[in-house]
Amino acid sequence: MDTPSPAALFALWERARRLDAVERSRAALRTLGLAEPDLGQLTVGQADTLLMDLRARAFGASIAAVAGCPACGEQVDVEFDLRDVWTPPSGDLGTSASIAEDDFTVQVRPACLDDLSRLACLSSDEDRAVALLRCCVLEARKAGELVAVEEIPPEFVVLLDRALAELDPQADVQLSLGCPTCGRAWLVPFDIAAFFWDDLDAWVRRTARDVGTLAAQFGWAEADILAMGADRRALYLELTRP
Ligand SMILES: [Zn+2]
Repeated sequence: MDTPSPAALFALWERARRLDAVERSRAALRTLGLAEPDLGQLTVGQADTLLMDLRARAFGASIAAVAGCPACGEQVDVEFDLRDVWTPPSGDLGTSASIAEDDFTVQVRPACLDDLSRLACLSSDEDRAVALLRCCVLEARKAGELVAVEEIPPEFVVLLDRALAELDPQADVQLSLGCPTCGRAWLVPFDIAAFFWDDLDAWVRRTARDVGTLAAQFGWAEADILAMGADRRALYLELTRP
């Protein structure tokens, strides 16, 4: 898998900045050489694993952020390495699972990027949750008879969610945080797609400033400045400072 060049990262930013979160992820994964239709068939967890790999290649594997404590509001530093939240693929993982309890037997498969793209137009969380379940349920039966997804009782949906999390563990990474001030412990979801985009946006703005400075000082073209290694760029930037 290729590490995208600075020029490719710039092009990605320009192409994806007006897209929604799912389409941004798809655009980012295309820089790794992935293409349709395989790209759309990646499960959310598989896509997130690749985005983690892309983030590590482009900007390093360490993550530093802050999260507000839900009890006292203290800003808690969150620092970890992407490798710590990466779940190695297990040979036991299947592409679907069948769950049976009481009268119900339901077969599910993990959500894929095509599913998320289809759901992007839905505005309410509730509509999205039902539509996502409809994507993931391959077949639902009550006492042997086919039933609609809407007829699956909420307590059974909890079992389905658990089975889906086991089928695609990387889709929902939860960070376990603790507040040093009040002692509260809590979980927050880690959204690699959002992190990658924020990093890319910050990197592009920082690099554009540097390119602008070097172009003004030396008259070099953007493509030539971007093609330099980061260290060489930094060296020339030093020369521009009084
Ligand atoms: Zn606290």
